[in-house]
Amino acid sequence: MTGVGRLWAGAQFFARLPAYLRRPVSFEAAKEALRQRLALRRQRFLDRFRLDVFGQPDSPYHALLRHAGCEWGDVAALVEREGVEATLQALFRAGVYLTIDEFKGRRPARRGSLEIAIQPEMLRAPRASYHLPAASGGTRSSGTPVLIDLEFIRTCAANCAVCLDAWGGRDWVKGDWESPGAGARFRVVKFAGFGALPRAAFSFFDTATLPAYFRWNLKGLHWASRLGGRPLPRTVCVPHSNPAPLLEWLVQVLRGGETPCIFTFSGAAVTACLAARERGYDIAGSVFLISGEPVTAARIRTIASAGCRAIPRYGTVEVGAIGYGCRAGRHPDEVHFLEDMHALIHAGEEGAQAGLPPKALLMTSIHPQSPFVMINLSMGDQAEMGARACGCPLDGAGWRTHLWDIRSFEKLTAAGVTFLGSEVIAVLEEALPARFGGGPTDYQLVESETETGLPVLRLRAHPRLGDLPAREVVDTFAEVLGRSSQSKAMMVRRWLDAGTLQFERAVPAATRAGKIQFLHVEKRPAG
Ligand SMILES: [Zn+2]
Repeated sequence: MTGVGRLWAGAQFFARLPAYLRRPVSFEAAKEALRQRLALRRQRFLDRFRLDVFGQPDSPYHALLRHAGCEWGDVAALVEREGVEATLQALFRAGVYLTIDEFKGRRPARRGSLEIAIQPEMLRAPRASYHLPAASGGTRSSGTPVLIDLEFIRTCAANCAVCLDAWGGRDWVKGDWESPGAGARFRVVKFAGFGALPRAAFSFFDTATLPAYFRWNLKGLHWASRLGGRPLPRTVCVPHSNPAPLLEWLVQVLRGGETPCIFTFSGAAVTACLAARERGYDIAGSVFLISGEPVTAARIRTIASAGCRAIPRYGTVEVGAIGYGCRAGRHPDEVHFLEDMHALIHAGEEGAQAGLPPKALLMTSIHPQSPFVMINLSMGDQAEMGARACGCPLDGAGWRTHLWDIRSFEKLTAAGVTFLGSEVIAVLEEALPARFGGGPTDYQLVESETETGLPVLRLRAHPRLGDLPAREVVDTFAEVLGRSSQSKAMMVRRWLDAGTLQFERAVPAATRAGKIQFLHVEKRPAG
């Protein structure tokens, strides 16, 4: 989309916003709409192929399907015979999929003799319009603009309403705390689409530091919502390092006899709960809807120890919500998969052809106005997946499939040693806090280089933990990490001998999108 096209789409979005805000979806209507979408699922899946792939000569998926010798009639017959998921499995085996690197245009998609260079622009859903421009954040993407259709937001709002209703949250006071550029506006507009308006929008960074385009966007949102007589809250800067304004807001809402519900990343929720304990804010009774990073048992425990509740959510800016927390979950991050919006399969043994582990998730978007056409897209995540009659209200709403143990499978290579992310998380979030105090997000591994290009790994501990015995912390880290295999134990020994692994007291760094990741890669010195 050209700059002018984007401006026009943005203008249309703001023109339609007041009407959207004036007609929030009711909780009953949200459940009924979900039932209808589930009933229409197969039809919508077919429409995605018929209209958005076979009807678009330039679609990269069209090229992949042609290369696989698959025409529209074949897909339709397969869906009729085998169903949605089996069709996706068959297409995956035939090479119809994209990895996140191919999707983002970091490398061309190669299937046998076929080579296609893809840009995310080519995958925008043709039936979506009136876009709210948002940028994705995090380490995996380089800020691909995501344009979000108001109709899509309305559906996301309805699904969020179904989730909060299931957790008893019809009257919760909604707020948001995240990076201003990473879909926060989408969240606030979504929250405004059901129940009462959101009352707070907190941002990790000062919005004045945003590019002009985004600042104008925030202003547009503000004015359009005022025109609609349903003003959205102004964004207030609350950095990780000083969450006091957020804590004060939580306390104030609680004192008013209401329950605050804040959407944020799991790491940020943990820092807020730790800060509340340290500074004597009683935020017991608050609810954190958490997403964006692994939701681990340690993180849930820390949030619970502040008397707060955590509802896990799994999603990305490009896709929207993928799953909402099960009330009867057996795992800290167990969510109900939103099968009205997407289809999901495991890569399985055939994943090896695409360099994917068997539990890699392949995502297909079904909603006609979803930001992107995605067919068997690997976003770099893996998870366990299965149907289970949990008996919670989300099961009753029609979402039967559960996801848990959701992790990025992108391996962590630190100073030449490759670890699974889950191994490193276990050490940083469980082993070190158990022995030296603190909680999850208090420890971080920072990879950088010396001036001469030698790798340096710094094991960072939050200064609030006081004077930790550096040697012992490093030794414990190396010892626990080395337990996974003998070869890893040897490599870790080598780090210690070479002085590659060092200890430092510093506040764990956050990414551009405001997530605290367990491995932080510092910019290499220039030159
Ligand atoms: Zn459930």
